[in-house]
Amino acid sequence: MSKRTRIKDILSATPGQDHTVMGWVRTFRNNQFIALNDGSCLANLQIVVDFENEDPTLLKRITTGAAIKIDGELIASQGKGQTVELTAKNIEILGDCDPEVYPLQPKRHSLEFLREIAHLRFRTNTFSAIFRVRHTLAYAIHKFFNDRNFVYLHSPIITGSDAEGAGEMFQVTTLDLNNIPRTDEGDIHFKKDFFGKATNLTVSGQLEAELAALALCDVYTFGPTFRAENSNTTRHLAEFWMIEPEVAFNDLNDNMDLAEDMLKYLIQYVLDHCQEDLLFLEQRLVEEEKQKPQQDRSEMSLIEKLKFCLAHPFERLTYTEAIEILKNSTPNKKGKFQYPIEKWGADLQSEHERYLVEKHFKKPVILTNYPKEIKAFYMRLDEGEKTVRAMDVLFPGIGEIIGGSQREERYDVLLRRMEEMHIPAEEMSWFLDTRRFGTVPHAGFGLGFERLVLFVTGMTNIRDVIPFPRFPGNAEF
Ligand code: ATP
Ligand code: MN
Repeated sequence: MSKRTRIKDILSATPGQDHTVMGWVRTFRNNQFIALNDGSCLANLQIVVDFENEDPTLLKRITTGAAIKIDGELIASQGKGQTVELTAKNIEILGDCDPEVYPLQPKRHSLEFLREIAHLRFRTNTFSAIFRVRHTLAYAIHKFFNDRNFVYLHSPIITGSDAEGAGEMFQVTTLDLNNIPRTDEGDIHFKKDFFGKATNLTVSGQLEAELAALALCDVYTFGPTFRAENSNTTRHLAEFWMIEPEVAFNDLNDNMDLAEDMLKYLIQYVLDHCQEDLLFLEQRLVEEEKQKPQQDRSEMSLIEKLKFCLAHPFERLTYTEAIEILKNSTPNKKGKFQYPIEKWGADLQSEHERYLVEKHFKKPVILTNYPKEIKAFYMRLDEGEKTVRAMDVLFPGIGEIIGGSQREERYDVLLRRMEEMHIPAEEMSWFLDTRRFGTVPHAGFGLGFERLVLFVTGMTNIRDVIPFPRFPGNAEF
């Protein structure tokens, strides 16, 4: 095909030159003005058609959603709303779009409706903006780590281990489900399965990242993770992407610094590179919040909220300190929490996390040193052995965005913790080997990519920030 100029580039080009553009018609007004979009940016290009000298059957085919190619001259625009426009010299219909059946009309559609037509929602302003921002964040993550000499590690997607014994896993098998081979004892005969053992989709790349960190020092993974948990919330997906840095010779404080630096870097990067999309998403949020009662609306606009995050150090406090705050909080005393905080040891629910972040501190919070009972076996035991060097980063509107810890590097202690928590040590000898051969203190964390995209775009449902969401009862497309 002939060379096309991207709309993003043409909008800042000098008038007076000929260009070829291709894209999809958003609207066609008065048989004269086409608003054309090619996804390169939010803005449309205005194309002016000399309708009096144009074939009327061709004009009829310029409908919302149709794909067209235009050769024309870029001129300074007379009209309001744009500085340049293209005078069409030649129009070619590349793909017709029957307006009678095309589901996307130039009007406001609900996010719920668009979720059902996720294959077409990329063509809306909201979703094209979200996926450009998502891309920019993904790129910035690699840039952040590359600039700091981290090695990008591809951890396996099919694993023979359950990283924490926590996440519900999706089994991977090629066994015939209608004719499952059984052992003499009647168990499933996994030796006959593809890998000769039971395998699952990964719930985390952390354990593998630890192996690499104990040689390469600074590594990170960035890949899909799968959890078969039946959580029908606006913050959980069955398939999501996670970023997991793991660093040798880092302790819990270094780990918190890395997490805070990274989040601030990523937010700044998007502010610097996605201005047009952020302004649009900010306005979208204002419109959405008009449906809510005054007291439920955000105090800050989207961009203010992002800048506020950059301007203040995250509040760092221990779980024990947080429990005191929550115990004495008004909602706890008035019985407003669904899960009242009665004593030390309680697992924190999203309502508690959000109280701390949104009501008490009014900024991002890092909670540390949780009771060992509510955290994973591999976390470094504190002195006194009641708590572990865990950290959760909590964000406004989201709750937990990062979970991490300093890892238990002492062989004996780790082995004891695995026994206490019924993790089969014989299956994890490869993990324990790192502690047997040249062990060192190290730390890492997992950042849920979609939760970050949620925060940055101001969207409220995680299903709207991943192209094709997977959740209980849904694996469309
Ligand atoms: P939560 O308590 O919110 O369910 P978690 O403690 O189970 O999260 P971790 O195992 O610590 O999560 O995973 C690290 C990060 O991955 C979390 O901080 C979160 O950002 C993200 N995450 C976890 N589960 C999901 C999910 N089902 N969908 C999307 N992101 C998730
Ligand atoms: Mn967690």
